[in-house]
Amino acid sequence: MATQIQEATRTLKTHDDNGDDEQTTIIVSYDPATGEEVGRVSVASAAEVGQAVESARAAQKAWGALSYAERGRVVLRAREIVLAEMDAIAGLISRESGKPATEALMMELVPTLDLMNFFARRTGRLLRTERIDIGQYGLMGRSSRVVYKPLGVVGIISPWNFPWAIPLGEVVMSLMAGNGVVLKPSELTPLIGRKLGEVFHNAGLPEGLLTIVTGEGATGAALVEAGVDKIMFTGSVATGRRVAEAAARKLIPCVLELGGKDPMIVFADANVEAAAQAAVWGAFANAGQACASVERCYVHEEIAEQFTARVVELTRALKQGVGGHEGTDIGAMSSERQRDIVEAQLRDAVAHGARVLAGGGRGENANGSFHQPTVVDKVDHTMELMREETFGPVLPLMTFQTEEEAIERANDSPYGLTASVWTNNIRRGERVAERIEAGTVMINEVLYTHSIAQTPWGGVKLSGIGRTHGRAGLLELVAAQHIHVNRLARLPDLWWFNYTPRAAELFRGFARRFTSGSILQTSLLLPQMMRRLMERRRR
Ligand code: NDP
Repeated sequence: MATQIQEATRTLKTHDDNGDDEQTTIIVSYDPATGEEVGRVSVASAAEVGQAVESARAAQKAWGALSYAERGRVVLRAREIVLAEMDAIAGLISRESGKPATEALMMELVPTLDLMNFFARRTGRLLRTERIDIGQYGLMGRSSRVVYKPLGVVGIISPWNFPWAIPLGEVVMSLMAGNGVVLKPSELTPLIGRKLGEVFHNAGLPEGLLTIVTGEGATGAALVEAGVDKIMFTGSVATGRRVAEAAARKLIPCVLELGGKDPMIVFADANVEAAAQAAVWGAFANAGQACASVERCYVHEEIAEQFTARVVELTRALKQGVGGHEGTDIGAMSSERQRDIVEAQLRDAVAHGARVLAGGGRGENANGSFHQPTVVDKVDHTMELMREETFGPVLPLMTFQTEEEAIERANDSPYGLTASVWTNNIRRGERVAERIEAGTVMINEVLYTHSIAQTPWGGVKLSGIGRTHGRAGLLELVAAQHIHVNRLARLPDLWWFNYTPRAAELFRGFARRFTSGSILQTSLLLPQMMRRLMERRRR
């Protein structure tokens, strides 16, 4: 028996003695900081993905019939398990993705523990039946309400950068909305995906309701084809397009949470120290591999020198190392493939005149896929570094003179996920925020709002379609059903057959008076309505 490890896919295929491929393909998961193996999982075939969807559909029937409180109890039990195991889970996240365990605790576990609490207790209220004001139709004894029903089975495809927080939030919301779930985690972080499934299994979630299908891109593609009712996809623009195309062919809806090139604007009246610290955290947390990382920073020229000096000083003081070691600020990047992209963008920028002020290379930790936190200036919008998502620890700085110029630069991007504005003048901050093309704009804050379960998350332009989190996110996971009641059932409607001359005259009256929205105007139609009623009675 021979084996072959392919670094790019981390897939280990087994061959028999004749050199033929054996049936099972497994993924070997490595610690990107040390190269050590973390564990192995098998790749789910298309047939297995199909079975997972069928099982979820069967289990969903009873689950969807439970009350929100009953579903919430399971989620809260899962939350207790996460709490009891939080250090072990943070350690696993750190080993599989390269990030510091401390950061995993704060950026992945704390937000999801909060999210579980919120949706376990509040989903019923957020999805309660809504009465709709139907205007003058109400005067005719009619009423309308909207009830929210589960979709059925939701397919979730998630990335490697927040391998716990992103899928867990969507799993919890889908389950609370009454759905079954099949989750395909990234091939780079399959063990975390599997751990997530284990937590819910141990919490007593009905068998088959949630399945984790580990695998590569093909497994994700199979999930889109497997007959789910909706796809929640988080990942790159390129894959998002493929998923959207496949979903369109199946005529199923999808939410796409895609990349970002998020700008930070620092006005002259901002608190320079706070803004500099925020820029450094916003650009380098998770080794810059966050969709909402600060990827472009525009500083007013009056404070540029002071701000830049402080950013460089803070960056140089960061400790980079293995994520499990205490005191590590920045870990390894999650893959060499991603580091290659960062290096290529930096090389291109430097070749076109950018200046490296801090970092710029792989640093001392040559064994793992590390890249130093890097600050550059003398950049412009012709450079790939300022146009394409970098998704790595690079902070490019540019200056501006006027508010108008800052807004123009921020909007000069095909992406629109988040943005941040720094100023002591909140009114100006809000004015600027409303003109920025992004799903979320923070004033005097960076990066962290994905952690606020109550608020909608999602982008505009190439950053995606649809929302996760908050009520807007829950509404993506349910079917809104309109129920309309006519309490005056004995009276035939005035617009039913036959279309006599008297009917035509009344309909003209409807067009003029009823649609004006005025009860008084409509009441002037009463004699005509009575005549039409008598006419219909004589039929
Ligand atoms: P990818 O697009 O490469 O992959 C995302 C997921 O899709 C993975 O599970 C991947 O599997 C799977 N996949 C790959 N090919 C297909 C296919 N043809 N059909 C269905 N699924 C497929 O993204 P990354 O994992 O590299 O994540 C990084 C990207 O995610 C960045 O662009 C980042 O900005 C974005 N992102 C967006 C967020 C947001 O909320 N807007 C949040 C976090 C990240 P596999 O890994 O096995 O190839």
